[in-house]
Amino acid sequence: MRTLRTVGELRAALAPARETGSTIGLVPTMGALHEGHLSLIRRAREQCDVVVVSLFVNPAQFNEHSDLERYPRSERHDAGLAAEAGADLLFAPSVEEVYPPGFATAVEVLGLTDRLEGASRGAAHFRGVTTVVTKLLCMTMPDTLYLGQKDAQQVIVIRRLVADLNLPVQIEALPTVREADGLALSSRNALLDPAARARALALHAALHAAGELAEAGERSAQVLLDAAHDALASAAVRPDYLALVDPDTLEPLTELYRPALLAVAASVGGVRLIDNAVLQPTGVKGVRRADDTMPRRVRATALLPGDRAPRTTPTKLPSPRVSYTGGAPAGETVHPQTSATTPERSGETRCSA
Ligand code: AMP
Repeated sequence: MRTLRTVGELRAALAPARETGSTIGLVPTMGALHEGHLSLIRRAREQCDVVVVSLFVNPAQFNEHSDLERYPRSERHDAGLAAEAGADLLFAPSVEEVYPPGFATAVEVLGLTDRLEGASRGAAHFRGVTTVVTKLLCMTMPDTLYLGQKDAQQVIVIRRLVADLNLPVQIEALPTVREADGLALSSRNALLDPAARARALALHAALHAAGELAEAGERSAQVLLDAAHDALASAAVRPDYLALVDPDTLEPLTELYRPALLAVAASVGGVRLIDNAVLQPTGVKGVRRADDTMPRRVRATALLPGDRAPRTTPTKLPSPRVSYTGGAPAGETVHPQTSATTPERSGETRCSA
């Protein structure tokens, strides 16, 4: 794997692949790589001839300077992990390379970015995301862009961006990778002290509580949200937002009548975390996992719909829980759920943006 610092180096490295019609996959990251990132890189390796991983802590998307300052950085370690997962090129430009003097352009997706993360972090956050992703797409010109469902709103916003600007790239969104106890992997988890790490589990517990109710047939958004709020409150976690929204428009829902996105954000021990799950009203067909042979009410899993456990997950799961089926936002394929003992997913379909 080669590490490249400039757009010129990246273009030169990709020129032969472009000439021969080889496929290029791009995995954009901010580094401090974990199994969530690596799942994207591995999938890109399976599907593309050339895999580019970008590593750029984008100052434009941080609304708080202190968050940017303490964002974990570990390029050398990341390079080893990316290479091992199958990356061919690590594109790690400087801030000046991405935003040279005189830089004056922004790419903005309207409407969708006003909600959830946008409402909580301000308009500049998504403007920073959409501008840098557009730049990375222009620099790399990949066939497929790999994103994580962990940042569900980001996926929705980038799908909109790619469709609206007619960008010739496919988007593949992969399930959230979690720790064995349910905590969604995040680069920021490294900043949690043990007490905060324990409280952070409340985000997953909140999604799970609402998911169990949905599984039992509950359709009232208020009841589902109350259950999620209770789970957060029991760990003294106050959410920045907790919302059940339409997965296309991100409009709040009053009833679970089709697959809906339940999204949560909270600061725990001074570390801002996000998580989400797709809730499915019971009775909707076509979302059972391939290996779903046990009765749903007794099957034990700590995973949320569409999630997968990291490769390193111990085979022993925490206390048995009733599971529920999951769907995916419109335009996205339902990802068959996997158990912690069989982390590889099967039968996933690529999604066009
Ligand atoms: P980041 O480095 O946080 O900007 O994330 C880079 C990419 O990795 C984004 O597409 C994220 O959605 C994805 N990602 C982050 N955490 C996870 C996770 N736990 N599971 C799957 N994908 C993830």
